[in-house]
Amino acid sequence: MGLITDCKCIFCDDPCETREHLFIKCPVAEQLWNVVFSHSGLHFTVHSWDALIAWACSTWKGKSLLTSIMKLGFTALIYILWDERNKPLFQGRFRNSQDLFHAIKDIVRLQLRDRNINRNDNVNITLVEHWDIY
Ligand SMILES: [Zn+2]
Repeated sequence: MGLITDCKCIFCDDPCETREHLFIKCPVAEQLWNVVFSHSGLHFTVHSWDALIAWACSTWKGKSLLTSIMKLGFTALIYILWDERNKPLFQGRFRNSQDLFHAIKDIVRLQLRDRNINRNDNVNITLVEHWDIY
């Protein structure tokens, strides 16, 4: 029994996996954030964990479909990255960014499938199409 002392990023081999690296700076995380934002019609570049949290706290308010998707997308992205980060350590397997995004999308989609959505709203129509919410 021993401790794992190697802190190398399992996705990109960066020598130091920190929260900032794993969830923000890692190319896999950057790609996932870009896809989540673009599917939501948003253009936001994530520069740091603190900036992301500050932006989320100041803008993700209310009960709009966009806010719900961003909150679900945020938590799903963090969960999927952490889960994927640990899988190769224990199972020796690895999914690509596209598969990871599909896992995020499934979580968002399934959480919202029974929600009453105003489908006359143009923003909602686009979000429903992009996230495959039926
Ligand atoms: Zn990395």
